[in-house]
Amino acid sequence: MIRTIGLTGGIGSGKSTVSSLFAEQGAAIIDTDDIAHRLTRPCGIAIPAIRAEFGDHYIAEDGALDRAGMRALVFADAAARHRLERLLPPADTRQAETELLQAGTAPYAILVVPLLPQAPAFRRLVQRVLVVDCDEATQLARIIRRSRLSEVEARAIIASQTPRAERLKLADDIIYNDGDLDALADQVGCAAPQLPAKQRLTICWEYHISFAPNNPTTKHRATTA
Ligand code: ATP
Repeated sequence: MIRTIGLTGGIGSGKSTVSSLFAEQGAAIIDTDDIAHRLTRPCGIAIPAIRAEFGDHYIAEDGALDRAGMRALVFADAAARHRLERLLPPADTRQAETELLQAGTAPYAILVVPLLPQAPAFRRLVQRVLVVDCDEATQLARIIRRSRLSEVEARAIIASQTPRAERLKLADDIIYNDGDLDALADQVGCAAPQLPAKQRLTICWEYHISFAPNNPTTKHRATTA
């Protein structure tokens, strides 16, 4: 199986932006939110199992999962949530595993798992955990700017997720995304720009470079280049 980094972070921390930067360098990107949507769209492979478990009621007219209806059900009914959790996360994990096996010649894969701290099945698929982190004020500003949520709504979503300190405890590597996009790209780049992209990724992997700016291992960036 391809060497795989699990990429996680709180809402709006910059996971998609970071994964796009890795994609530019040749990494295979597998996003578990995309997988979850694909499996539950019309004719998605999870639909028959959902229909068998919950009946037609939570399947929309187009044959997709009725997300709003299911969200309301599992919010109100813990037993229903457990039934859904027995179905969907295993299907998502199997699909992620299939896609990792098909990742082809990429030097390594980034598996984007927003809820990685609560997802042991996904953690078994990754060899390292990379956390995208930023301070809460930055996170709030980005969420509000992007989605037009109120500050209260944005804070409520942050509060419902794994606390920042807990998430950081899982990290083998951290990207601090408090700066601008150039600063972010520098951290993802992680070695001299004249190196071919694939080589950069390989060096990055072999030296287990921490992306944290003050970590002494980042010296490898210069010396390796
Ligand atoms: P979600 O949890 O909702 O999936 P995410 O963690 O994938 O979000 P992004 O979508 O990458 O986060 O970033 C959130 C918003 O912040 C986007 O509008 C993105 O363009 C912006 N953003 C991310 N990083 C930076 C940065 N360093 N400078 C400026 N804007 C940024």
